[in-house]
Amino acid sequence: MKIYNSLTKKIEDFHPIEEGKVTMYVCGPTVYNYVHIGNMRPVITFDMVYKYFKYLGYKVTYASNFTDVNPKIIKAAEELKITEREVADRFIKAYLEDLKNYNCSEIDKRPRVIECLDDIFSFIKKLIEKDYAYAVDGNVYFRVSKIKDYGILSKQETSDLISGSRIEIDDRKENPLDFALWRKTDKGEQFDSPWGKGIPGWHTECVVMINKIFGPKIDIHAGGVDLKFPHHENEIAQSIALNNNYIANYWMHNGHININNEKMSKSLGNFILAKDFIKEHNANEIKLAFLSTHYRQPLNLSNKILEEGKSINNKIIAALKSANLELNINNDGHIYTKEKDILFEKYMNDDFNTPNVITLLLSLVKELNQEIRNNGKEILPLTNKILTITNILGLTYPMPKFTEKQKEIYKEWENARKNKDYEKADIYRQKLIEENIL
Ligand SMILES: [Zn+2]
Repeated sequence: MKIYNSLTKKIEDFHPIEEGKVTMYVCGPTVYNYVHIGNMRPVITFDMVYKYFKYLGYKVTYASNFTDVNPKIIKAAEELKITEREVADRFIKAYLEDLKNYNCSEIDKRPRVIECLDDIFSFIKKLIEKDYAYAVDGNVYFRVSKIKDYGILSKQETSDLISGSRIEIDDRKENPLDFALWRKTDKGEQFDSPWGKGIPGWHTECVVMINKIFGPKIDIHAGGVDLKFPHHENEIAQSIALNNNYIANYWMHNGHININNEKMSKSLGNFILAKDFIKEHNANEIKLAFLSTHYRQPLNLSNKILEEGKSINNKIIAALKSANLELNINNDGHIYTKEKDILFEKYMNDDFNTPNVITLLLSLVKELNQEIRNNGKEILPLTNKILTITNILGLTYPMPKFTEKQKEIYKEWENARKNKDYEKADIYRQKLIEENIL
């Protein structure tokens, strides 16, 4: 198993910290609004990664947080004229609904900031004790100058980082790169802390949650490429300070999304919310469109790619439907089980090469169709291979067992056709279509 590690910029062999186990953490949403489809790319990507590790036999624990305390939430509460907790609850609920609709709900731990405040306090206290952080005027900042590796992930010189536009200018900081661990607030939601009333800094919560759930180090930390700096760089700085490690042995970042070759933005009018997108395309089609580009590459979401996703999905549906019919009528007692495919594993072990997997999937579908036409013996194993692969890609295809009644109708249809009673045959055929068998 090889993974591209954003930290070392190399493709590396995957070795878990503990044999047989994988721990992974993906930065979740700030719940102040509905998420857009760019937010769904890490969700879909790391759901596939999670499922593949499980398929390989690892015991995987996947955590993804909710940033439910944040200045953006305070602002939203003001605008919506409700409390911060109401804002967070509303958009957590909406996000969970999105996950369900995109069929990506398999996340083991979903920590929230509100539940981790005491852990955040003791974490910041330790940083202050070790001189890695300092309190000024009710705020606490991380002292970046103490981290000699600062910039390792985004591979930027600190001077470039300073000239970059994403640094918050604040006179109280010793160094422009220092970031807030605790932020004094005078409006909206505030929490009592050893440094006065305020809210925790965004970069602190993920490290604290990881330490709380998993301990000082995990196997995989992942997120969108836009989180590399400053968020992930700052997570790493805190972990170096307290645990002398980079939090994770492997850092994975998915590329961003463009819409028809343009950056998605509200001003361009091409901003698509996940909840609206799923009304127009089903989850399988969206996932096939997303996964047809390697996760590290930018994904250009165009009508063409969505049409292709739809067409591939329809081909899989048609083949599996025929196979399920064949197996129910002629091979009763069959069971759908995991079926290995060497090429599939080869592609997935190559840093999750899903574009190749989709090409393989199409050739398996073609083989299955041939096998059905020829009444061959490979219908069940081929079906199992396709179901195994599609399941890991997060696609769902129901393969219902027929009832005795349904089988009877099918036999009646066959008899009617044999006897050239086309009128009767048509009635049975209609019934079978209604039952979603044909
Ligand atoms: Zn994070």
